[in-house]
Amino acid sequence: MTTDRPAAKPMKSLDDALAQLLGYASMLDGAEQVGTFDADGRVLAQNLVSQLHVPPQDNSSMDGYALRCADVTDLAQALPVSQRIPAGSAGTNLAPMTVARIFTGAPIPPGADAVMMQEDCDVQPDGAVRVKVQPKPGQWIRRAGEDVTRGAVVLAKGARLTPAELGLAASIGMDFLSVARRPRVALFSTGDELVMPGAVAPQDMPPGAIYNSNRFFLKALLKRLGCEVSDLGIVPDRREATIAALRGAAVNHDVILTSGGVSVGEEDHIKPAVESLGHLDLWQIAIKPGKPFAYGRVAAAHFIGLPGNPVSSFVTFLLLVRPFLLKLQGVARLAPPVVAVRADFTWPRADRRREFLRVKRNAAGGLDLFANQSSGVLTSAVWGDGLVDNPLGSTIAPGDVVRFIPFSELMA
Ligand code: AMP
Ligand code: MG
Repeated sequence: MTTDRPAAKPMKSLDDALAQLLGYASMLDGAEQVGTFDADGRVLAQNLVSQLHVPPQDNSSMDGYALRCADVTDLAQALPVSQRIPAGSAGTNLAPMTVARIFTGAPIPPGADAVMMQEDCDVQPDGAVRVKVQPKPGQWIRRAGEDVTRGAVVLAKGARLTPAELGLAASIGMDFLSVARRPRVALFSTGDELVMPGAVAPQDMPPGAIYNSNRFFLKALLKRLGCEVSDLGIVPDRREATIAALRGAAVNHDVILTSGGVSVGEEDHIKPAVESLGHLDLWQIAIKPGKPFAYGRVAAAHFIGLPGNPVSSFVTFLLLVRPFLLKLQGVARLAPPVVAVRADFTWPRADRRREFLRVKRNAAGGLDLFANQSSGVLTSAVWGDGLVDNPLGSTIAPGDVVRFIPFSELMA
Protein backbone atom coordinates (compact mmCIF):
# COMPACT_ATOMS: atom_id res chain seq x y z
CA MET A 1 0.00 0.00 0.00
CA THR A 2 1.23 3.44 -0.80
CA THR A 3 0.61 6.51 1.27
CA ASP A 4 -0.19 9.74 -0.46
CA ARG A 5 2.26 12.25 0.87
CA PRO A 6 1.84 15.90 0.02
CA ALA A 7 4.64 17.03 -2.26
CA ALA A 8 7.38 18.72 -0.25
CA LYS A 9 7.02 22.49 -0.53
CA PRO A 10 10.00 23.99 -2.32
CA MET A 11 12.32 25.73 0.12
CA LYS A 12 12.29 29.52 0.20
CA SER A 13 14.98 31.34 -1.72
CA LEU A 14 17.28 33.57 0.31
CA ASP A 15 15.90 36.70 -1.33
CA ASP A 16 12.31 35.75 -0.54
CA ALA A 17 13.19 34.74 3.00
CA LEU A 18 15.09 37.97 3.62
CA ALA A 19 12.26 40.09 2.22
CA GLN A 20 9.78 38.25 4.44
CA LEU A 21 12.04 38.57 7.48
CA LEU A 22 12.61 42.29 6.97
CA GLY A 23 8.85 42.71 6.67
CA TYR A 24 8.59 41.58 10.31
CA ALA A 25 11.35 43.91 11.50
CA SER A 26 9.44 47.07 12.29
CA MET A 27 11.46 49.69 14.09
CA LEU A 28 11.72 49.42 17.86
CA ASP A 29 9.81 52.08 19.73
CA GLY A 30 11.61 54.58 21.91
CA ALA A 31 14.72 56.50 20.96
CA GLU A 32 17.24 57.47 23.63
CA GLN A 33 19.72 60.27 24.12
CA VAL A 34 23.33 59.19 24.42
CA GLY A 35 26.49 61.23 24.74
CA THR A 36 28.26 61.61 21.39
CA PHE A 37 31.31 59.95 22.94
CA ASP A 38 29.22 56.81 23.55
CA ALA A 39 27.34 56.70 20.27
CA ASP A 40 29.76 54.60 18.19
CA GLY A 41 27.83 51.79 16.51
CA ARG A 42 24.42 53.24 17.33
CA VAL A 43 21.79 54.29 14.80
CA LEU A 44 20.65 57.89 14.50
CA ALA A 45 16.96 58.30 15.29
CA GLN A 46 16.51 61.76 13.76
CA ASN A 47 18.05 63.94 11.07
CA LEU A 48 20.96 66.05 12.29
CA VAL A 49 20.58 69.60 10.97
CA SER A 50 23.46 72.03 11.33
CA GLN A 51 22.77 75.35 13.07
CA LEU A 52 25.99 76.86 11.77
CA HIS A 53 28.50 76.89 8.95
CA VAL A 54 31.53 74.64 9.32
CA PRO A 55 34.02 76.16 9.29
CA PRO A 56 32.18 79.12 10.84
CA GLN A 57 34.22 81.73 8.91
CA ASP A 58 36.82 82.01 6.16
CA ASN A 59 40.13 80.97 7.69
CA SER A 60 43.71 80.34 6.79
CA SER A 61 44.86 76.87 5.78
CA MET A 62 48.53 77.84 6.23
CA ASP A 63 50.89 79.61 8.56
CA GLY A 64 51.80 82.77 6.65
CA TYR A 65 50.58 86.24 5.84
CA ALA A 66 47.10 87.45 4.92
CA LEU A 67 47.09 90.23 2.36
CA ARG A 68 45.15 92.06 -0.29
CA CYS A 69 46.28 90.82 -3.72
CA ALA A 70 45.84 94.27 -5.28
CA ASP A 71 48.47 95.65 -2.85
CA VAL A 72 51.12 93.46 -4.44
CA THR A 73 52.11 95.25 -7.61
CA ASP A 74 55.86 95.00 -7.22
CA LEU A 75 57.48 91.86 -5.79
CA ALA A 76 60.50 93.90 -4.70
CA GLN A 77 58.39 95.97 -2.34
CA ALA A 78 58.07 94.79 1.29
CA LEU A 79 54.79 95.32 3.18
CA PRO A 80 54.77 95.94 6.94
CA VAL A 81 52.97 93.57 9.32
CA SER A 82 50.04 95.44 10.85
CA GLN A 83 48.50 92.71 13.07
CA ARG A 84 49.02 89.17 14.33
CA ILE A 85 46.15 86.64 14.26
CA PRO A 86 46.74 83.26 15.94
CA ALA A 87 44.07 80.53 15.79
CA GLY A 88 41.32 81.27 18.29
CA SER A 89 41.43 85.03 17.89
CA ALA A 90 39.86 87.39 15.35
CA GLY A 91 41.69 90.11 13.41
CA THR A 92 40.56 93.60 12.47
CA ASN A 93 40.24 95.35 9.09
CA LEU A 94 43.47 94.93 7.18
CA ALA A 95 45.11 98.34 6.75
CA PRO A 96 45.96 99.07 3.08
CA MET A 97 49.48 98.17 1.96
CA THR A 98 50.08 95.97 5.02
CA VAL A 99 49.93 92.24 5.72
CA ALA A 100 48.65 90.31 8.75
CA ARG A 101 50.73 87.57 10.35
CA ILE A 102 48.29 84.63 10.38
CA PHE A 103 48.30 81.00 11.51
CA THR A 104 46.46 77.89 10.36
CA GLY A 105 42.80 78.02 11.39
CA ALA A 106 42.76 81.74 12.21
CA PRO A 107 39.97 83.83 10.62
CA ILE A 108 40.89 85.87 7.57
CA PRO A 109 40.77 89.56 8.55
CA PRO A 110 38.24 91.72 6.69
CA GLY A 111 39.85 93.25 3.63
CA ALA A 112 42.32 90.43 2.99
CA ASP A 113 41.64 88.18 0.02
CA ALA A 114 44.55 85.72 0.05
CA VAL A 115 47.13 84.08 2.28
CA MET A 116 50.78 83.72 1.36
CA MET A 117 52.37 80.72 3.01
CA GLN A 118 55.43 81.69 4.99
CA GLU A 119 57.69 79.57 2.78
CA ASP A 120 56.86 81.96 -0.09
CA CYS A 121 57.77 85.08 1.89
CA ASP A 122 61.00 86.83 2.90
CA VAL A 123 60.92 88.65 6.19
CA GLN A 124 63.12 91.76 6.03
CA PRO A 125 65.39 92.82 8.92
CA ASP A 126 62.82 95.49 9.84
CA GLY A 127 60.06 92.84 10.01
CA ALA A 128 58.32 93.85 6.77
CA VAL A 129 57.38 91.03 4.42
CA ARG A 130 58.29 90.64 0.77
CA VAL A 131 56.30 88.03 -1.14
CA LYS A 132 58.28 85.97 -3.61
CA VAL A 133 55.43 85.08 -5.99
CA GLN A 134 52.33 86.96 -7.09
CA PRO A 135 49.39 85.91 -4.84
CA LYS A 136 46.11 84.75 -6.37
CA PRO A 137 42.80 85.82 -4.81
CA GLY A 138 41.43 83.09 -2.54
CA GLN A 139 44.64 81.13 -2.16
CA TRP A 140 45.16 79.22 1.10
CA ILE A 141 41.75 80.30 2.33
CA ARG A 142 39.26 77.71 3.62
CA ARG A 143 35.81 79.09 2.94
CA ALA A 144 33.11 79.39 5.59
CA GLY A 145 30.67 76.49 5.19
CA GLU A 146 32.86 74.54 2.80
CA ASP A 147 32.42 71.45 5.03
CA VAL A 148 28.83 72.02 6.23
CA THR A 149 26.42 74.85 5.42
CA ARG A 150 23.94 76.12 8.00
CA GLY A 151 20.63 74.28 7.64
CA ALA A 152 22.12 71.23 5.92
CA VAL A 153 21.21 67.70 7.03
CA VAL A 154 24.67 66.43 7.91
CA LEU A 155 23.54 62.95 8.96
CA ALA A 156 20.21 61.39 8.14
CA LYS A 157 17.94 59.37 10.39
CA GLY A 158 18.90 55.72 10.01
CA ALA A 159 22.63 56.42 9.66
CA ARG A 160 24.88 54.01 11.54
CA LEU A 161 27.36 55.98 13.55
CA THR A 162 31.05 55.23 13.15
CA PRO A 163 33.97 57.31 14.44
CA ALA A 164 33.84 59.68 11.43
CA GLU A 165 30.13 60.37 12.04
CA LEU A 166 30.82 61.14 15.70
CA GLY A 167 33.42 63.70 14.67
CA LEU A 168 31.06 65.29 12.17
CA ALA A 169 28.25 65.47 14.75
CA ALA A 170 30.66 67.11 17.20
CA SER A 171 31.74 69.60 14.53
CA ILE A 172 28.19 71.01 14.48
CA GLY A 173 28.08 71.18 18.27
CA MET A 174 26.22 68.00 19.19
CA ASP A 175 27.24 66.61 22.59
CA PHE A 176 24.22 64.28 22.75
CA LEU A 177 22.55 62.32 19.97
CA SER A 178 19.15 60.75 19.65
CA VAL A 179 19.67 57.08 18.74
CA ALA A 180 17.51 54.00 18.38
CA ARG A 181 17.07 51.87 21.46
CA ARG A 182 19.35 48.83 21.61
CA PRO A 183 17.53 45.62 20.63
CA ARG A 184 17.30 43.37 23.70
CA VAL A 185 18.31 39.92 22.54
CA ALA A 186 18.06 36.69 24.52
CA LEU A 187 20.63 34.20 23.29
CA PHE A 188 20.73 30.50 24.01
CA SER A 189 22.37 27.41 22.58
CA THR A 190 20.77 24.00 22.44
CA GLY A 191 22.54 20.65 22.55
CA ASP A 192 23.33 18.05 25.21
CA GLU A 193 26.79 17.62 23.69
CA LEU A 194 27.79 21.20 24.44
CA VAL A 195 30.32 22.04 27.12
CA MET A 196 31.55 25.49 27.99
CA PRO A 197 35.25 26.24 27.62
CA GLY A 198 36.58 26.51 31.14
CA ALA A 199 34.01 24.09 32.57
CA VAL A 200 35.91 21.01 31.42
CA ALA A 201 39.58 20.88 30.40
CA PRO A 202 40.31 19.62 26.86
CA GLN A 203 41.94 16.41 28.16
CA ASP A 204 38.91 15.65 30.33
CA MET A 205 36.21 16.05 27.66
CA PRO A 206 33.78 13.13 27.91
CA PRO A 207 33.02 11.10 24.78
CA GLY A 208 30.65 12.92 22.46
CA ALA A 209 31.16 16.31 24.05
CA ILE A 210 32.20 19.40 22.11
CA TYR A 211 32.84 22.94 23.20
CA ASN A 212 30.14 25.52 22.60
CA SER A 213 31.66 27.75 19.95
CA ASN A 214 28.50 29.32 18.53
CA ARG A 215 27.76 31.10 21.78
CA PHE A 216 31.00 33.04 21.51
CA PHE A 217 30.73 34.35 17.97
CA LEU A 218 27.00 34.98 18.20
CA LYS A 219 27.37 37.06 21.34
CA ALA A 220 30.22 39.04 19.80
CA LEU A 221 28.29 39.62 16.57
CA LEU A 222 25.20 40.75 18.50
CA LYS A 223 27.25 43.25 20.47
CA ARG A 224 28.83 44.64 17.31
CA LEU A 225 25.33 45.29 16.01
CA GLY A 226 24.44 47.37 19.04
CA CYS A 227 22.35 44.74 20.87
CA GLU A 228 21.96 44.30 24.60
CA VAL A 229 22.53 40.56 25.04
CA SER A 230 21.08 38.34 27.76
CA ASP A 231 23.07 35.14 27.56
CA LEU A 232 20.76 32.39 28.76
CA GLY A 233 23.31 29.62 28.39
CA ILE A 234 22.77 26.11 27.12
CA VAL A 235 19.35 24.48 27.01
CA PRO A 236 19.18 20.69 27.11
CA ASP A 237 17.65 18.71 24.23
CA ARG A 238 14.26 18.23 25.91
CA ARG A 239 10.92 19.57 24.78
CA GLU A 240 9.87 20.89 28.20
CA ALA A 241 13.20 22.55 28.87
CA THR A 242 13.10 24.20 25.46
CA ILE A 243 9.57 25.47 26.01
CA ALA A 244 10.46 26.83 29.43
CA ALA A 245 13.54 28.58 28.08
CA LEU A 246 11.59 30.17 25.23
CA ARG A 247 8.78 31.25 27.51
CA GLY A 248 11.21 32.91 29.90
CA ALA A 249 13.19 34.54 27.10
CA ALA A 250 10.07 36.10 25.58
CA VAL A 251 9.71 38.32 28.64
CA ASN A 252 11.57 41.61 28.33
CA HIS A 253 13.33 40.76 25.09
CA ASP A 254 12.72 41.96 21.57
CA VAL A 255 14.40 38.97 19.97
CA ILE A 256 15.12 35.39 21.01
CA LEU A 257 18.07 33.93 19.13
CA THR A 258 18.89 30.24 19.41
CA SER A 259 21.38 27.93 17.75
CA GLY A 260 20.94 24.23 17.09
CA GLY A 261 17.95 21.95 17.42
CA VAL A 262 16.13 23.47 14.50
CA SER A 263 16.23 20.51 12.09
CA VAL A 264 13.76 17.65 12.00
CA GLY A 265 15.54 15.00 14.09
CA GLU A 266 13.93 13.59 17.22
CA GLU A 267 16.42 15.59 19.25
CA ASP A 268 15.41 18.84 17.56
CA HIS A 269 12.86 20.51 19.81
CA ILE A 270 12.91 24.10 18.68
CA LYS A 271 10.25 23.87 15.99
CA PRO A 272 7.55 22.13 18.07
CA ALA A 273 8.42 24.26 21.11
CA VAL A 274 7.98 27.52 19.21
CA GLU A 275 4.78 26.23 17.64
CA SER A 276 3.37 25.33 21.03
CA LEU A 277 3.99 28.85 22.37
CA GLY A 278 3.50 30.98 19.28
CA HIS A 279 3.98 30.37 15.61
CA LEU A 280 6.67 29.76 13.00
CA ASP A 281 6.46 31.89 9.88
CA LEU A 282 9.61 30.86 8.09
CA TRP A 283 11.42 27.57 8.16
CA GLN A 284 14.26 26.29 6.01
CA ILE A 285 15.97 28.31 3.30
CA ALA A 286 17.57 27.07 0.09
CA ILE A 287 21.11 28.10 0.98
CA LYS A 288 24.28 26.22 1.79
CA PRO A 289 25.48 26.32 4.46
CA GLY A 290 22.46 27.12 6.56
CA LYS A 291 19.33 25.35 5.37
CA PRO A 292 17.81 25.01 8.87
CA PHE A 293 16.80 28.57 9.71
CA ALA A 294 13.58 29.56 11.41
CA TYR A 295 11.66 32.73 12.17
CA GLY A 296 8.55 33.00 14.29
CA ARG A 297 7.01 34.72 17.28
CA VAL A 298 6.90 33.71 20.92
CA ALA A 299 4.49 36.06 22.67
CA ALA A 300 5.63 39.58 21.73
CA ALA A 301 9.21 38.53 20.94
CA HIS A 302 10.67 37.78 17.55
CA PHE A 303 12.09 34.27 17.46
CA ILE A 304 15.05 33.40 15.24
CA GLY A 305 16.45 29.88 15.20
CA LEU A 306 19.88 29.35 13.67
CA PRO A 307 21.38 26.03 12.65
CA GLY A 308 23.76 24.32 15.07
CA ASN A 309 26.63 23.72 12.69
CA PRO A 310 29.01 26.56 13.41
CA VAL A 311 29.57 27.76 9.84
CA SER A 312 25.85 27.55 9.08
CA SER A 313 25.12 29.52 12.21
CA PHE A 314 27.75 32.11 11.34
CA VAL A 315 26.70 32.56 7.72
CA THR A 316 22.95 32.70 8.38
CA PHE A 317 23.58 35.28 11.08
CA LEU A 318 25.51 37.47 8.66
CA LEU A 319 23.06 37.12 5.79
CA LEU A 320 19.75 37.22 7.65
CA VAL A 321 20.01 38.19 11.32
CA ARG A 322 22.36 41.12 10.76
CA PRO A 323 20.01 43.00 8.39
CA PHE A 324 17.07 42.09 10.63
CA LEU A 325 18.71 43.60 13.72
CA LEU A 326 19.81 46.69 11.81
CA LYS A 327 16.29 47.22 10.47
CA LEU A 328 14.87 47.00 14.01
CA GLN A 329 17.08 50.02 14.74
CA GLY A 330 15.93 51.87 11.65
CA VAL A 331 19.08 51.47 9.55
CA ALA A 332 18.46 52.57 6.00
CA ARG A 333 21.24 50.70 4.22
CA LEU A 334 20.98 46.97 4.85
CA ALA A 335 22.53 45.14 1.91
CA PRO A 336 26.27 44.58 2.08
CA PRO A 337 28.23 45.74 -0.95
CA VAL A 338 29.02 42.95 -3.38
CA VAL A 339 32.28 43.11 -5.32
CA ALA A 340 32.97 41.44 -8.67
CA VAL A 341 36.23 39.48 -8.27
CA ARG A 342 37.99 36.84 -10.34
CA ALA A 343 37.89 33.29 -9.01
CA ASP A 344 41.26 31.54 -9.02
CA PHE A 345 39.70 28.19 -8.14
CA THR A 346 37.43 25.50 -9.45
CA TRP A 347 34.04 24.68 -7.96
CA PRO A 348 32.98 21.73 -10.04
CA ARG A 349 29.75 20.63 -8.40
CA ALA A 350 26.59 22.65 -8.97
CA ASP A 351 24.20 22.59 -6.04
CA ARG A 352 20.43 22.95 -5.85
CA ARG A 353 20.91 25.56 -3.15
CA ARG A 354 22.57 28.95 -3.41
CA GLU A 355 26.01 28.57 -1.86
CA PHE A 356 28.18 30.87 0.20
CA LEU A 357 31.78 29.73 -0.13
CA ARG A 358 34.54 30.80 2.23
CA VAL A 359 37.30 32.42 0.19
CA LYS A 360 40.29 34.68 0.59
CA ARG A 361 41.69 37.39 -1.67
CA ASN A 362 45.14 36.55 -3.00
CA ALA A 363 48.05 38.79 -3.96
CA ALA A 364 47.14 38.48 -7.67
CA GLY A 365 43.78 40.13 -7.02
CA GLY A 366 41.79 36.91 -7.34
CA LEU A 367 40.07 34.64 -4.84
CA ASP A 368 41.31 31.37 -3.35
CA LEU A 369 38.92 28.80 -1.93
CA PHE A 370 39.24 27.17 1.47
CA ALA A 371 39.69 23.46 0.74
CA ASN A 372 37.07 22.19 3.21
CA GLN A 373 33.68 23.86 2.78
CA SER A 374 31.92 21.68 5.35
CA SER A 375 29.43 23.52 7.53
CA GLY A 376 31.21 22.29 10.64
CA VAL A 377 34.65 23.66 9.76
CA LEU A 378 34.92 27.01 11.47
CA THR A 379 38.54 27.33 10.37
CA SER A 380 37.16 28.25 6.92
CA ALA A 381 35.62 31.41 8.34
CA VAL A 382 38.85 32.42 10.06
CA TRP A 383 41.07 31.63 7.07
CA GLY A 384 38.65 33.35 4.68
CA ASP A 385 38.04 37.06 4.36
CA GLY A 386 34.64 36.78 2.77
CA LEU A 387 31.99 34.77 0.98
CA VAL A 388 31.41 33.99 -2.66
CA ASP A 389 27.71 34.14 -3.42
CA ASN A 390 27.31 31.28 -5.93
CA PRO A 391 23.86 31.05 -7.55
CA LEU A 392 22.10 27.71 -7.34
CA GLY A 393 22.98 25.34 -10.14
CA SER A 394 26.28 27.09 -10.88
CA THR A 395 29.81 25.79 -11.18
CA ILE A 396 32.86 28.04 -11.06
CA ALA A 397 35.93 27.79 -13.29
CA PRO A 398 39.20 29.67 -12.81
CA GLY A 399 38.89 33.13 -14.40
CA ASP A 400 35.14 33.41 -13.82
CA VAL A 401 34.07 36.67 -12.23
CA VAL A 402 32.08 35.92 -9.09
CA ARG A 403 30.16 37.88 -6.48
CA PHE A 404 32.31 38.44 -3.39
CA ILE A 405 31.02 39.80 -0.07
CA PRO A 406 33.85 40.80 2.29
CA PHE A 407 33.52 39.75 5.94
CA SER A 408 34.64 43.26 6.88
CA GLU A 409 31.34 44.56 5.47
CA LEU A 410 29.27 41.78 7.00
CA MET A 411 30.72 42.11 10.45
CA ALA A 412 30.63 45.86 10.77
P1 AMP B 1 21.90 20.63 15.47
O1 AMP B 1 21.47 21.74 14.55
O2 AMP B 1 21.49 20.84 16.86
O3 AMP B 1 21.49 19.30 14.91
O4 AMP B 1 23.47 20.64 15.45
C1 AMP B 1 24.20 20.42 14.26
C2 AMP B 1 25.66 20.24 14.54
O5 AMP B 1 26.18 21.43 15.10
C3 AMP B 1 25.96 19.15 15.55
O6 AMP B 1 27.13 18.49 15.14
C4 AMP B 1 26.17 19.91 16.83
O7 AMP B 1 27.01 19.22 17.72
C5 AMP B 1 26.82 21.18 16.34
N1 AMP B 1 26.52 22.28 17.26
C6 AMP B 1 25.29 22.63 17.69
N2 AMP B 1 25.37 23.68 18.51
C7 AMP B 1 26.67 24.02 18.60
C8 AMP B 1 27.38 25.02 19.32
N3 AMP B 1 26.75 25.90 20.10
N4 AMP B 1 28.72 25.06 19.18
C9 AMP B 1 29.35 24.18 18.39
N5 AMP B 1 28.74 23.22 17.68
C10 AMP B 1 27.41 23.12 17.79
MG1 MG C 1 21.40 19.67 18.50
